[in-house]
Amino acid sequence: MANCKLSHRYDTIFQNLPESQKFYDKTERHKCAGCAYEQGYNHAKSKMPRNIDLDVLDKSQAGEVRHKDPTIAYNLGYDAGLRPE
Ligand SMILES: [Zn+2]
Repeated sequence: MANCKLSHRYDTIFQNLPESQKFYDKTERHKCAGCAYEQGYNHAKSKMPRNIDLDVLDKSQAGEVRHKDPTIAYNLGYDAGLRPE
């Protein structure tokens, strides 16, 4: 599993995300919320169903996305992808 090195780890849109509680003590807790957001955005743009694929997400321990809930980030991204450009 790769560690996310992308700048979205420091994106302030993730500041207000709740801390991930339901994945407490599991590896999903450390999934990169920024990567989850981009996955949701790309799924919406590709007209794919809203269904997060945690297995392919990089993990992150850094920046604003640390311990943020990846499913909420995914839904944020999906909603953003549904909006017209
Ligand atoms: Zn990332």
